[in-house]
Amino acid sequence: MATQRCEFCTARPHQEVAVSRWHEDPDERERLTLWVCVKHLGRMQKAGTRGWAHDGAFYKTGFW
Ligand SMILES: [Zn+2]
Repeated sequence: MATQRCEFCTARPHQEVAVSRWHEDPDERERLTLWVCVKHLGRMQKAGTRGWAHDGAFYKTGFW
């Protein structure tokens, strides 16, 4: 087990997901894999292509 907590909170991670992260410009996205809990996975999925805003950045699932 690589990680015992979610990237965004102290909950146990649910799964490792491919995530795109950007600040102002979605074309300048970083691609990373993060361990996240069910709640935070749901938030990113619900936000869709607009991205989930967190701590000055936007996150969405998938690299594209
Ligand atoms: Zn979480």
